[in-house]
Amino acid sequence: MGGGPFPTGAEWQALLEWTGTLADLSGTSTVLGWDRETIMPAGGGEGRAKLLGTMAALSHRELMRPDGDELLDSASASATTPAHDRVIALMRRERDRASRVPESLVRELSEASSRCVSTWIETRPRDDFATFAAALSPLVELKRRQADALDIGDEPYDGLLDQFEPGARAAQLEVLFRDLAAGIQSLLDRVDDDAAALPERTWPVDAQMTLASDIADLVGFERETGALAQSAHPFTCSPHSGDVRFTTRVDSSDPMGNILAVMHEAGHALYEQGFPQEFARTPLRDAPSLGAHESQSRFWENHVGRTHAFWTHLAPTLRRLFPDAMRGVSEDDLRRGATRVHPSFIRVESDEVTYNLHIGLRFELELAMIRGDLEVADLPVAWGDRLEQLLGIRPAADGEGCMQDIHWPEGMFGYFPTYTLGNLYAAQLDAALHDHLGPTAPLIERGELAPLLSFMRDRIHTQGNLRDAEALMADATGQPLDAGPFLAHLERSYVG
Ligand SMILES: [Zn+2]
Repeated sequence: MGGGPFPTGAEWQALLEWTGTLADLSGTSTVLGWDRETIMPAGGGEGRAKLLGTMAALSHRELMRPDGDELLDSASASATTPAHDRVIALMRRERDRASRVPESLVRELSEASSRCVSTWIETRPRDDFATFAAALSPLVELKRRQADALDIGDEPYDGLLDQFEPGARAAQLEVLFRDLAAGIQSLLDRVDDDAAALPERTWPVDAQMTLASDIADLVGFERETGALAQSAHPFTCSPHSGDVRFTTRVDSSDPMGNILAVMHEAGHALYEQGFPQEFARTPLRDAPSLGAHESQSRFWENHVGRTHAFWTHLAPTLRRLFPDAMRGVSEDDLRRGATRVHPSFIRVESDEVTYNLHIGLRFELELAMIRGDLEVADLPVAWGDRLEQLLGIRPAADGEGCMQDIHWPEGMFGYFPTYTLGNLYAAQLDAALHDHLGPTAPLIERGELAPLLSFMRDRIHTQGNLRDAEALMADATGQPLDAGPFLAHLERSYVG
């Protein structure tokens, strides 16, 4: 660390060695996970689960090392800045969380979720809810026990939510989602729905990967520390500060999914590349929450990637790479393809307007399950009823209803709301960006995205995990969490 920002005494050297070891263990798991999603042979699944399980156990042991409190106490005595205090507070928070849940429950949870994911993979294609429910029910029961053990916030769900979005609370989100749903619904009645999908043609995979690479360059993804690949479900990861990777999915019958996935994941990747070098191997080299991370992906996807200006800029590249598929396709057609609004059963295929209704539905139902107000057996009916109220459609099969997402089988209750928080924060940031820069459309149209990135670098990326998401976003946008800017953005973009 040399002349870095941390004290140079022996206490801090010991502490930084410890945080470094934890970062290395986690980074190693990250590489194993990346490999699993991209090039691991199909037969590698079971063995890989063992490797990852061992890494998780080693990480846990290292986090809970017996002299940890002593180490933190003595480093705390020589802390001189809020950043030093934050490192210590984050380490204490992680240890506190990990110590609340007994090891036997951790193991039960891990086994129950592995079983539930396998059952989900088997049962979803044949819409076999009864078999799936038999695996999900015990998992929900264990999640309730975990939530009780965590004992964070005002009710059990808060403990689960807090793992993904530190400081957020169910009661606050219930109000937020209620207001948001009302706002979206009043807007849906007025949305132009003349938009059509692009004509069905072949968009060759190789050219789509060239396009993905061009877009990554356009937004400022650094190649020296960055890599790009294909996977079934796009994601971003960073094993360490010199290595940031993301994937996209490519469908040869439609380029939209790829283009928007690249904008989304590149947003996550730019965030990871923007953390200050001196935060490396400490808990400061991280987003403060998943909602904060998602604010970056949603900003590039929705506030840049779905604008008219973006498609004006991209059209010549598309014509060069896809001369056949682009025959007779105008810039307007492209933009309409990216901003089509239509009720859909599937969350990941839904548009920017209805997306948060899908999230609100999941939040309500998972909250009711953790509160004990909803039995797993009653999920399909509750899901159908609520989707019908929200979007006027009802799934005929559970595979495109309550069985569509992997989050619940994985035991990730409390995760869904972070998607919506990301959307709201992205809109607040876009509004702040306009106050700062003026209209962004002329810049986007010319492909000059550096000023947008430098705004995000300045206000978000370089801040790392120096404070919780709510404080970070309030400082960056000048206002507390609020659905207003998001609804205003939809109004401007979708109501003619
Ligand atoms: Zn994301």
